[in-house]
Amino acid sequence: MGMEDPRRQRIVVLGSGPALASATRDNTFFLIDSSAGSLLIDCAGSPFHKLLRAGVDPERLKGVILTHAHPDHAYGLPSLVHELWLFGRREALHIYANGHTHGVVRTLLDAFELREKPVPLELHFIPSEETFLLLETDLYAVYTSPVRHQVPTNAVRFASRVSGKVAVWSSDTSPCRELVSLARGAELLFQECSVEELHPFHCTPEQVGELAGEAQVGEVILVHCHPNLVKEPYLTIAEIRKQYHGRVQFAQDFDIYEL
Ligand SMILES: [Zn+2]
Ligand SMILES: [Zn+2]
Repeated sequence: MGMEDPRRQRIVVLGSGPALASATRDNTFFLIDSSAGSLLIDCAGSPFHKLLRAGVDPERLKGVILTHAHPDHAYGLPSLVHELWLFGRREALHIYANGHTHGVVRTLLDAFELREKPVPLELHFIPSEETFLLLETDLYAVYTSPVRHQVPTNAVRFASRVSGKVAVWSSDTSPCRELVSLARGAELLFQECSVEELHPFHCTPEQVGELAGEAQVGEVILVHCHPNLVKEPYLTIAEIRKQYHGRVQFAQDFDIYEL
């Protein structure tokens, strides 16, 4: 066996649970590990600790993409900035979020007087534009689209330029055309499934099946699930299978997906 390919990219599920965490599942957020700069997608509990646990050098963290300003997706950011400062990081940390989320982030950082610390924060705004090219490197490109939730929210599409594989995070949303179009043809769809009954801002299993079928994704990885849906996995998957025939699985914290 040769050395590990330095261009290898992977997604680490740092948390797989819904807004109410459990003993085994923290709030859902992800790490994309890449030699072109790692990214956090959302930022829940103990992000610095979890970077280390995932074996990622915190110096390599390029930025944080926040999908929306609900606590389970964004509350870890002040802790991340504080610990990066203690760690001695002086390189800029890029923060990508929509205008509403930036407002909340500013308030959080100000409350802890963290905007004065010498970890320069570079803020980038995510517009409410579909399939917006948010950032690109030689190894990957990241796109966002607005989805349907209580507050302005963006789904995220990560496209590897090494393997050609695509992974999408739905964030919190009810089914919508924007998500189907952002997820189209993706190998991996990390999909929220927060409710058992129809809801204006979240997806049921049947709706997950419908949108995954329409988007023709290779595989559905369920995250941010209602606890009852995890307790009865076969019933949940049967609902999804009504309209989707690809592979379906439930993510666990610290699962790794190669890209
Ligand atoms: Zn949430
Ligand atoms: Zn939410």
